[in-house]
Parts: sequence; structure tokens; C-alpha cells
Amino acid sequence: MTALHESFPVGRFAPSPTGALHTGSLATAVASWLMAKSAGGRWLLRLDDLDTPRQVPGMADDIMRTLELFGLEWDGEITRQSGNLAAYGEAFDRLAGMGMVYPCGCSRKEIAQAASAPHPEDDCLAYPGTCRGGMRAGAVVRSWRVRTPAEEVCFHDLRRGPICQNLADRCGDFALRRGDGGFAYQLAVVVDDHLTGVTQVVRGDDLLASTPRQIHLQRLLGYPRPEYCHLPLVTGPGGAKLSKRDNLVSHRLGNWTGREGALLVAVLRFLGQEPLGELAGAGCCEILAWGVAHFNAGRIPAEGGELPVPLHPFGRRVG
Ligand code: GLU
Repeated sequence: MTALHESFPVGRFAPSPTGALHTGSLATAVASWLMAKSAGGRWLLRLDDLDTPRQVPGMADDIMRTLELFGLEWDGEITRQSGNLAAYGEAFDRLAGMGMVYPCGCSRKEIAQAASAPHPEDDCLAYPGTCRGGMRAGAVVRSWRVRTPAEEVCFHDLRRGPICQNLADRCGDFALRRGDGGFAYQLAVVVDDHLTGVTQVVRGDDLLASTPRQIHLQRLLGYPRPEYCHLPLVTGPGGAKLSKRDNLVSHRLGNWTGREGALLVAVLRFLGQEPLGELAGAGCCEILAWGVAHFNAGRIPAEGGELPVPLHPFGRRVG
């Protein structure tokens, strides 16, 4: 018999503590929370803190307090990638034991020169396989790469529909580990989601292109595949990249104090959920309860755009 908890989804929010949340990351948190909670599931919080140099002290705490401020409570213990290094090492060793991993001595510059132009949607350079058959004599190991098949990896995204990508064309053999031993996001995220029983990955469209890489690793490691929903991105005016400076949502800065509900309603609208006037002046708990009762992933719009920020009572923009 299947254990009861297995039939309910497990979602997660996985911010990197490199800065405060912004309206875009808040939208991701809200969407993933609602998607899990509206199906009776659990919602986990993980801090993606592998990128040590970019971390800002105090940000992990600010993110947690900010989520609490909006009523986005997580279930169970918070996990931190920095606490999971042994698990990444085990997964890496298993892949290496299968003969799927090889050392690479190419610098980023060399790859950029040899590879076709990078794809505009992400920073992935199609690695041409230079070190597949062995590194040149005297080269130092700069990364460890996993072999990728010359075939399409396809999955169904809840919002975007069917997505296919040929890994070999798109990114080639991609890095799992740096020469100094540090693990790449692609490996860490797959291991973390598996170990914490995540069945639902809801995140920004900016990570859509890396999903086939993650599916490739799940297949090799024999992990079940979560369902995916990639969200439209919040942009600045005219589709410009979001300026975090103007769109921060931070407990520490207190820049939303007293206006949390108004921002939450704006986020629901951005996500295509249509709270009517009934939520005017409501608090976060009431708004989220409305969201749980009415959430419909099918209404999330195809296009991203600006998230109109509610005005401060005195007409000044806040956030
Ligand atoms: N930590 C990643 C980020 O902040 C998100 C990881 C994920 O959702 O898979 O962009």
C-alpha cells in the first residue's frame, strides 16, 4: 500500500541567499506554495547556498523572515545545500562509477572559442567534447563533465506544455563539479529534490532550459521525475530585466510593512489568479486561504511582464 504522504505533492522554494527576495522571487514562492497547498501537499524551504563568494551575510535570515511576513510558512526543517556535500559526492561517485564522468581541462574561454554561439536564454555554452577521450598532456582539471546523449530529452511543463531539447546540441557534456571540488547547481538540485522527496518543481522560466540537464541526471541516477511548472518572469518596464534595487521585498528593510496584503494580491493577479474586490484590505492569511481555495495553474499567463507594484498610501512607490 502506498504511504499516505506519497499521494500528496511536495513542493519547494529554493532561493539563493545572495540577496533579498524581489517581487519575482516572491511570485515564485507564492506560486509554488499555492500549487502544493491547494493539492493538500507540503512546501519545503531550501537555501541554495553553494555559491559561497556571492552570499551576503544575513540574507538567509532575511529571506526566512520575509516569507513569514507574507504567511508563507514552510513544512519541516529548512535544508541548506552547504549541508549536503556528502550526498552530492556520493551521487557524483555513482555517475563516475558508471563511466559517465570525465575530467576536462578546458577553460571557459577555450570553450567559448570552440563552441557555437551560446544560447540567449541561458549561459550554457555547447561544449564540443574536447576532453571526452582524455585531456591533453599537462592540462589541469578545471571541471568534471557528464556525458550527454545525442538525443532529445522531452518533458511536459505544466504551463509551457511539451518541451524537447537535444542536450548534445544545446550544452554538450556539462559540468557537475569544478576542478576545486565544488559541485555544480545541476547536480546539487537533482540530489536535493530527490532526497527531500520533492514531486513538484515550480520556478522561474529562466531555469526552463536547464531542466533537460536535470532530467538526464535523474535518469542516470534512477530518481523519479518531479512535475515541472516554469513561471513567467517578472520584468521591469517594457520587458527590461527586473531591477532588484527597485523591487526588493525585505523584512530587514521593512519596505512593505503594512502593505503586505496589497503586494500579495498583486502577485496573485500577476499569476493570472483573479481575486476580486473581496480581498481589498485583507491580511496575508486570508489572501492565501483564498488562493488555496481558488488556485488554478491553467490560468498562469503565457507571457511575463511587469508586476504592478501597489502604491504607498502617499502615492510613492515602495519596494
Ligand atoms: N536557487 C535557484 C535560484 O535562486 C533556484 C533553484 C531551483 O529552483 O531549481 O535561482
